[in-house]
Amino acid sequence: MTTKISVFISRINTHYGEQKWTRWREPVGELVRTILSQNTTDKNSLKAYANLIKKYPTWEDLILAEEKEIAEIIRSGGLANIKAKKIKKALIEIKQQRGTIDLEFLANFDVQKAEEYLVSFDGVGPKTAACVLIFSFNFPIMPVDTHVHRVCNRLGMVSTKSREKTQELMKSLIPSEEMYNFHLNIIEHGRKVCKAGKPRCSECFLNDLCAFYTVTTGK
Ligand code: SF4
Repeated sequence: MTTKISVFISRINTHYGEQKWTRWREPVGELVRTILSQNTTDKNSLKAYANLIKKYPTWEDLILAEEKEIAEIIRSGGLANIKAKKIKKALIEIKQQRGTIDLEFLANFDVQKAEEYLVSFDGVGPKTAACVLIFSFNFPIMPVDTHVHRVCNRLGMVSTKSREKTQELMKSLIPSEEMYNFHLNIIEHGRKVCKAGKPRCSECFLNDLCAFYTVTTGK
């Protein structure tokens, strides 16, 4: 790890606090919740997830439902028809491959094999796979969403055009034990300070180290 990255991590931890890992939900639930979170807010996707698990108490119940009915239940999460299709298809594939709708076996895989398994499903990209692996198992992998991608590029930690490339590079930049913490805190920073439209650079505690700030202010 470079000195500059260790300073980023240390300041971010000091400012936002160190987040200790706890399991968010079992891995199939995390997969479903993450698919629901695509292109919408946490608030909307969590509401859609709550509606879904209320309506279908087991994943077996869900795969028996019509896609149209699932879409109605998750309407609040946006892109309901597409997400209903992705969710049902992924759960059916898990059932066909494993005989049951359960992903706990991934705990016995190494991180690369577990990631490869998850991205083999239609509609599951690297970010969704990383969310399942870190939030359900604490695997050393860092999901890169739009906030993480934007902030890491502005800071100059990476220089990439896609979230996927940023996520790939983060694997070697951030120490394994910091990935969970860094992911959550950098999202917080992206929401509160390093906003997409108008970053609040003058009040940012990272501005003396930030590539974007240096370029835009000449300081
Ligand atoms: S200085 Fe500005 S661009 Fe850099 S991290 Fe802070 S808010 Fe973002």
